[in-house]
Amino acid sequence: MRVGAVIVAAGRGRRFGDERPKQFVDLGGAPVLAWSVRAFAAHPEVERVVVVLSPARAAARPAWLPEGVTVVPGGVARADSVRAGVGALAEEIEVVLVHDGARPFPSAALISRVIGSAGRGPVIPVIGIEDTVKRVDGRGRVAETVPREDLRRVQTPQGFPREVLARTHALGDGAAWAEHDAASLTDDAMLCERLGIEVATVEGEPSNLKITTPRDLAVARWMVESGVIPGRK
Ligand code: C5P
Repeated sequence: MRVGAVIVAAGRGRRFGDERPKQFVDLGGAPVLAWSVRAFAAHPEVERVVVVLSPARAAARPAWLPEGVTVVPGGVARADSVRAGVGALAEEIEVVLVHDGARPFPSAALISRVIGSAGRGPVIPVIGIEDTVKRVDGRGRVAETVPREDLRRVQTPQGFPREVLARTHALGDGAAWAEHDAASLTDDAMLCERLGIEVATVEGEPSNLKITTPRDLAVARWMVESGVIPGRK
């Protein structure tokens, strides 16, 4: 099975409260994105890596990107960026892993778990929820308690047979996607769910955190400095 990875990093990261998108801030001497890319570029089962950057950044290939990694310009919505990345993978690639550039620490074992399942159909890494979860109404009052046994937090990399990913993203070319606001697609499995394609899960990792806030970055820096994450950049 031939595997390619698409790492999306074309977003503006407005929630971070910084001028620079979160995937480009320094983490132990290298940008956050460099860690994400390295995890896939160094994985023996991953044959091709495509990084999707904003058009301005894609025009000047960052020097820290490993050789052999392809750079393509992204689009307005996340799904547009994924589509651009998948389009840059050679036809021979049968399984595509889609990963958020703002998640620097997917382990090799996690990537292998996703690859192990993705040949059979879409798969996403998930972790359980420890907190009690409640739904609140428009005025902030508790409406109900949601059973947490049925809930999972979703991570990337998400794995897909290439043909499934191409089919779901082809929706964007025609009228079919107009009814779904592209900006509301927060992950790739959502497109599969909308088409009734079964999505499997594998165990994710608490250390595979997504850097969204300054607090997340502080945690990631601590992970590097304390040696919780081996110093791979
Ligand atoms: O905004 P959010 O954190 O959900 O973005 C998830 C990932 O998708 C980020 O890595 C971001 O850079 C990427 N993205 C993209 N192109 C966009 C929007 C988001 O590559 N147009």
